Amino acid sequence: MRARPEIDVIVCGGGTAGAVAAIASARSGARTMLIDQYGRVGGMASTGMSFLGVSDAGGRRALGGIGAELFERLGRIGAAFEDRPDKQVGSVTVADPLALQQMLLAMLLEADVQFLFHTFCADTLVEDRRVRGVVVANKAGLEMLPARAIVDATGDGDIAARAGARFVLGRERDAAMQPVTRIFRVAGVDVEEMFAYLRQHPEEMDLPDGWNDGSGYSDKDLEATSIVMDAFPALVAEARAAGELTVPRDRIGIETGPARGVVTINATRVHGINGTDPDSLTHAEVETQRQMFEVFQFLKRRVPGFSRANLQDAAYQVGVRETRHILGEYVVTLDDVLAGRTFTDTVARGAYPVDLHDLHPGAQVLGARVGGGGVTLRPIQLAYGIPARALTPADVDGIVMAGRAISASHEAAGSVRGQAVCMATGHAAGVIAAMSSRADIVPRKLQAKDVQAALTAQGAILFHPPDPA
Ligand SMILES: Cc1cc2nc3c(=O)[nH]c(=O)nc-3n(C[C@H](O)[C@H](O)[C@H](O)COP(=O)(O)OP(=O)(O)OC[C@H]3O[C@@H](n4cnc5c(N)ncnc54)[C@H](O)[C@@H]3O)c2cc1C
Repeated sequence: MRARPEIDVIVCGGGTAGAVAAIASARSGARTMLIDQYGRVGGMASTGMSFLGVSDAGGRRALGGIGAELFERLGRIGAAFEDRPDKQVGSVTVADPLALQQMLLAMLLEADVQFLFHTFCADTLVEDRRVRGVVVANKAGLEMLPARAIVDATGDGDIAARAGARFVLGRERDAAMQPVTRIFRVAGVDVEEMFAYLRQHPEEMDLPDGWNDGSGYSDKDLEATSIVMDAFPALVAEARAAGELTVPRDRIGIETGPARGVVTINATRVHGINGTDPDSLTHAEVETQRQMFEVFQFLKRRVPGFSRANLQDAAYQVGVRETRHILGEYVVTLDDVLAGRTFTDTVARGAYPVDLHDLHPGAQVLGARVGGGGVTLRPIQLAYGIPARALTPADVDGIVMAGRAISASHEAAGSVRGQAVCMATGHAAGVIAAMSSRADIVPRKLQAKDVQAALTAQGAILFHPPDPA
């Protein structure tokens, strides 16, 4: 097997979390390599969905640092519109998905990160429970890549799991995982015609109970750059009765903008998929593509504003909301998230709503349904802290977790998986990995105050004024 020379930090996975982690690591002085199975960066965040909960429902900003810099730089070229307060989700920040990928790439290049694309991280080199590198598979065969520290930003905790870290798959009591969805975008939509229909049929636009004063979206809201909604339950029911629609969802998730006439559709859904099982994942790829075409035809046929629309693009792969939660010395809980808890070793903050999709068709989670379309959303009133202990696997050293597989319960992961939160944990993981490599200390042994000082110097938001700093 070919072996490469040792490098300071390897980041496995170039999604939302991994790209930010690699920038943070390289800016912190570590020779850093970013590996991804595809030839691009940005992961799920580059498929067209809004960044929800950049600020919490109380209007406090949760995301600073590299994530905030990304939005600021995109904003300067008119490719991101930041932080509109929203009744349901704290705030909505929209970015042009292709520009987002390109800006991340530019920031990675500026930071002098090395890339290794079309390369799958398949295994680990472990000595005395410490990971010393990764084994990858690519067109050249198998390669061994030693590293002083590794960030696992694969979303599924592939690296930690291969190294023997304990994890919980999905929900603790039965391994049930959130359903998967393929996101796609439709262009050529007459958005005015769509909203005219919704104004005439307010029952066709979902308004969560008890969320606001019940007055619904105002005309001012509808003029915003991006509206995130679940809509058209009556049209969906009609199409279903006519045998035209089989998707197990009673509403169509739609986000408008940022480009006029382009909408992002979040409507396909397959239950019971295990994103760490290749056969299950293959079934999900095929079924979500079949559903995507079905939903597209439904929109064209039945929804006002879509008659001249065309399919613009589809996510590069099926979107997996949940798989492994790697167990750290601390597991972030629903209570932590809803209470806006802060920890002495807080290294990131989150404000993405607790976003749990029904685990089975028609099921209810968390007791009360407050959202439509088979989704339960709970707003984050006060952004919560994520402790460093949730980023380091409890029983394997040399790895730092970033993104949606960090140590959190099934319910808390409904919030932790949000794109802005993944950028915040990515930033923290990159800094921790670089410091670990430089000091030759395993990540868990670093002093929290040193990590916090480094992150704060890079603009990360760790504490809010009311919290103990
Ligand atoms: C359908 C859907 C809708 C969502 N809606 C929203 C929303 O509206 N707003 C919001 O903020 N969040 C939303 N989310 C959540 C959010 O998009 C993701 O949880 C988040 O982007 C995950 O970031 P990540 O970096 O952890 O993982 P990913 O973005 O999945 O990145 C993982 C990267 O690692 C690579 N990779 C994986 N395994 C390997 C391996 N073994 N070797 C090499 N490379 C590997 C992948 O190619 C990918 O580039 C949604 C998620 C889904 C699935």
